[in-house]
Order: sequence, then structure tokens, then C-alpha cells
Amino acid sequence: MDKVLLFYPPGALFQRGEDRCQQNVDDGSAQAMRACNDLGYAAAILLKEGFEVKLRDYQTEGATMDDLTHDFEEFQPDLIMMSITNTTIFDDLKLINTLKDKYNPVVVLKGALFYAPEQAMLDLLDLSHVDYLIGGEVDFAIGQVAKFALRGEGKIEEVLSILYRDETGKLVPTAFHTWGENLDDQPFPARQLMNNALYKRPDTDEPMATIQTARGCPSNCVFCLTPEISGKRVRFRSPANVLAEMTECYEQHGIRNFFFKADTFTINEKWVREMCQLIIDSPLNGKIQFTANSRVRPLSKETLQLMKDAGCFLVAFGFESGSDEILSLIRKGTTVEENLQAAKWCHEIGLPFWGFFVIGFPWETKAHIMQTKKLIMKADPDFIEVTIALPFYGTPLYEVCKENDLLAESVLGSDFFHSSMKGTKYLTVDELMKLRRDILLSFYLRPKYILKKMGETVTHPGVFVNYAKYGIKLVVNLFK
Ligand code: SF4
Repeated sequence: MDKVLLFYPPGALFQRGEDRCQQNVDDGSAQAMRACNDLGYAAAILLKEGFEVKLRDYQTEGATMDDLTHDFEEFQPDLIMMSITNTTIFDDLKLINTLKDKYNPVVVLKGALFYAPEQAMLDLLDLSHVDYLIGGEVDFAIGQVAKFALRGEGKIEEVLSILYRDETGKLVPTAFHTWGENLDDQPFPARQLMNNALYKRPDTDEPMATIQTARGCPSNCVFCLTPEISGKRVRFRSPANVLAEMTECYEQHGIRNFFFKADTFTINEKWVREMCQLIIDSPLNGKIQFTANSRVRPLSKETLQLMKDAGCFLVAFGFESGSDEILSLIRKGTTVEENLQAAKWCHEIGLPFWGFFVIGFPWETKAHIMQTKKLIMKADPDFIEVTIALPFYGTPLYEVCKENDLLAESVLGSDFFHSSMKGTKYLTVDELMKLRRDILLSFYLRPKYILKKMGETVTHPGVFVNYAKYGIKLVVNLFK
């Protein structure tokens, strides 16, 4: 039987499965690694097609190159697929070159960087040892790629959103901007091959499964890859299908905590209400908890209340900025007033919330960033992250930065905490990093905040210890 190895390489922690952010987890404030669902989906498809599959998340396991070498020697894969990020791509390619030279498997790389890529960007990379690039949704591509590469079956040019080598060896793209439709037809990630205990809820350390409930976003945020790579039309799974996956997680893997991964979970209030009601009416009611992302528009207090009733323990908002001028320039489609309204509803309901903020957009002055700081203090989220704007290839932000000569030589190799921009039109990267540090320290080191968190965790000492660990990590990161 043909063998396939799916893996994240050893090294620093990145959200490799989350194409839209690809976040550097080690250098962030309070994020935990999310499950490797991209590998899990690929594994499920490949198992269905009759391949023998091994799945390893070396980075999250803290495994080494020796472990990886051992797996190659023992398993001897015919095809390998590794998830890359914009940040790690150069190191990822060095590893791939070594593995191809030594073991000669068919090499597939998967990552948003390869979504309808410009030739000029590809020319920056040594792709000489790579056979296929998957830029789109892996579960709609990997089965056909493996069947073509290992069995000579199917037509490779019909696979969605990939690049393959033609008879001259040139990488040629298939159709991009077309997406697989019926998400309910896809198998659930092969969690029997995933080490589910690695992916933890940050406060309680309990295993947390990621469940993708929808794909795509109709919004136009200039910095976001989602509308490009997943489309502007949202494709939903049915609530019943999502509940079936949750039930499988609960019954077969003992998982009680979930991250509902949708580009914006609350974008369709009717769907959210149906989903929450289904959980409430199911045997899982009271036994599970979940967290989800949300925009502040559309949103209602009633929806947030229903989410809480169904087991939502945390909602994460992309507030982004405290300046209406900047919210308009980044085409967020929301206002500061709506940001504050969402925060107020959460406080009234008693639903903890995360606030995500971005500073360093090309138009930003110090005054704009101070408005963001003011919003943070006024909204008073339970947790925050402040990232530096990152102009991913393929986003409108990239074009704006290019036009304004704000890009460093290449955006590859950078991340939210190691910017690839020269700064904004008015602030240097150093100034932005200092402002980020000031905001995070001002927020997290408030005595009122620390006392509140101590009070909330007085009956859960383990949670308090985890908060303290993240707090120490944050301070260390900010001063290193
Ligand atoms: S709301 Fe904006 S940031 Fe969020 S997924 Fe949609 S486009 Fe991206």
C-alpha cells in the first residue's frame, strides 16, 4: 500500500493549519497551539482513498529532527505533505530539500502562500525539490494529488487550487477562486491519528478540538487573506453535521472543549441560533464548552446570550482599531461604537471575550494608536492581543504598502511580531513595537485586572497558574 506522511516540521510553534493568520505562537501573548486540522482532514481523505497514512505534528510535540529522520527510515513514505507558513518558508524549503535528496518521496507543500501566486514571488523560493503546491483547501485537493502522483489516476489539471509540474518541469496552476461546495460531504478530521492531548484550552489545559463550521467571509478587510483564499461567499456546514463531529469528539476521544473555527462564526445569526439550539437540545448540553470568533457586526445581545447558554466560554472579536478613520481605511465595515457595544453586551451577559487589535497600518500615526489603546481600556476585554499589521501577498494591504514604499525587501520570513514593513507613513517599526509593548503592559499589569483574574480563579488554582504562566511569557517576550 502507498504510504503518505503528513507533518508539521520540528521547530518553533506556528498555527500552520490556519492559513489566514499563520500566527507565531511562541512570540504571542496568550495563544495556545490549535489542532492540526489541515493534516487531519488530509489524513481522513487519504485513508478513504486506501492510502496508509502517518501524521505527526513534530513542532507541537516538541519532537526533534532525529524523530523525523527515524520516521522516514521506518515508515519510508512514498509521498510527504508539509504545511508551510509565510514566516517559516525558507527554513521549510531547506528541510524539504534535505529530505528529497535523501529519501526521494513525492513532495507536496501546502500553504496560503501558494494561493494563485505571482511568478515573481515564486521566483524568490527554491522550489526545485517540490512536486506539488496546494494553495487552496487541502481536503479538496490532496486525495486527487496523491492518486495522480502515486497511482497515475485522474487528471491533475482538474484539481482545484494547486500547482503541478507539466512535462517540461514548469510549475503550472490549476483553477483558483473556485471552491469545493458541500462541506457536509467531507469526512471529519482523522482524530484517531492526531495527538489530541497536545492542543489545549489555554486556561484549563484540557484538550480542545478545532471544528471548522464554515469557510469564507463576505467582508473586505484589507489585511486578511480569507476573502482571497476561501472566497467571499460563506459556505456553511449544517448544524447537524457539526454536532455529529462534536459528538464523535466527545464519545470517541473524550474531548469536551471546542474551538469553532469559522472566519466569522456569527456572520449568519440564523445559523448560529440553530447551532446553539441544537447543542442545547442534544445530549451534549451542559457537558461541552466552546469558543468562537465573531465580528461586532452583525451581532446581537440575544445571539451572545444563546451562545453562552449553549456553552460558549469565550468569544473573540477582531476589534482591530479604536479609530473610525482607520476602521474605514482598512475596510473593516464596523465602527468604534459597535466595538464598544459588543464589549458592553459581553459584560452585561457575563461572557468573557478576547479583543484582537492591529497597529501599524500605513496611515497610522501615534494618535490613531492611542485611540486604540483608549478603546482597549474602555472595552476592558478579558484578554487581548495586539499585532503589527502584516502585508501578506495577495492582500490589498500588500498593494498599499508597495505603492507607498513601505515594504522591506520581501514580506516572506516575517510575522506579526517581526514586521516586514518599514513602518507606517509616520512611525518606524521600532516605534510600533514600543507602542505595542506599552499597550500590552498597560492592559495586563493593571492592579484592577490582576485582582479580577485572581478573584475569578480562586476556586480554580490550576487556571490561575496557567494565567500566571502566560503573563510571565508575555512579559519575557516583550522585553527580549
Ligand atoms: S471579518 Fe475581516 S478579518 Fe475577519 S475573516 Fe472576514 S475579512 Fe478576514
